[in-house]
Amino acid sequence: MEVVSPLISLLIALASMPAVAAKDTAIKWPVKSTEKIQWQDSYWWQKKWVPAKPTLETDRKALYGLLQIIQKTKFGKKLIRSVSKRYPKFYNRISIGQRSFTESTYLRTYSLKDGSEELEIKNHLTINRRLSRIDAVYDLTHELVHFLFRKPHNPYHMRFSMPEFVRHGIEGKGGELQAFEAECRIAWEIEKKAHVEPHQLCSKYGKKKHTHKFNQFNSRQAAKDFYAVGNYFVTLQGLQIELPALSNAHPTFISSLENSPYPYALIQEFVNVRKMACQNNARKARLIQQQAARARAGRDPSADASLLSEEYARLSKYFRWHCQTEIHK
Ligand SMILES: [Zn+2]
Repeated sequence: MEVVSPLISLLIALASMPAVAAKDTAIKWPVKSTEKIQWQDSYWWQKKWVPAKPTLETDRKALYGLLQIIQKTKFGKKLIRSVSKRYPKFYNRISIGQRSFTESTYLRTYSLKDGSEELEIKNHLTINRRLSRIDAVYDLTHELVHFLFRKPHNPYHMRFSMPEFVRHGIEGKGGELQAFEAECRIAWEIEKKAHVEPHQLCSKYGKKKHTHKFNQFNSRQAAKDFYAVGNYFVTLQGLQIELPALSNAHPTFISSLENSPYPYALIQEFVNVRKMACQNNARKARLIQQQAARARAGRDPSADASLLSEEYARLSKYFRWHCQTEIHK
């Protein structure tokens, strides 16, 4: 957390911080040579994608190896082209850690003169170092979709609601459904030319059209299955009016972050993010209230007391709606 007066910056992270940052600013894109892709060697695909005793150098090479494999597919080539177009140095925002996930960080900056604020969202992705090469390819594809497309809801927005957060996390742009579809499309392309076992989960959602190979994704079935929460249904059934797709069917999709079905995992995330937003809002409210008092007393002529009071009223409203506590407590 950083305080720069009169601008205040506050951070909220949507997931726990990644473990290791493999940074290199000297990389030229597109990536040229790394390890040669052994299409026909099933052992090569099953081997761990990073060496047992990694260094920053081997981590970086392994990562570029994965990107190179993804680039060799039609779908992956397009995906990487889009990512590198929008974020030319996106590889600096990839780490290797104990799990695969994409973290969104909100950086909020506000002025103590009038209470106005700006919010910037940054994504960072981490890939699990314990995976086989083929699974790492799937995970990286999946996380790149989150990285490129996901625009998390603004937690400071008055209409930041739990069902909307869950629905958006699953079905929204860059959500779980879209990331999973990307994973399957890459898997089906790789399966055509490499000695790999078919992607088990994806086989269930493949449709065949004019060919004996999968090339259509059954998005409707996958969306339905994302809401299958099994035993968690007892806890979540209160949300069924807003999320009618929730069912007690056996879960197919489990979030690796919370080790639970996605709707439940997203609710945990929502609760954490809201808690942070409430704390940050309380802090902002306190600061602007003091500032408004100073302005009214003529001690800070640059501050606008009436705009600060308006903002204080808005924050109080947010508290009443979302934080279930009075702002001054
Ligand atoms: Zn995901």
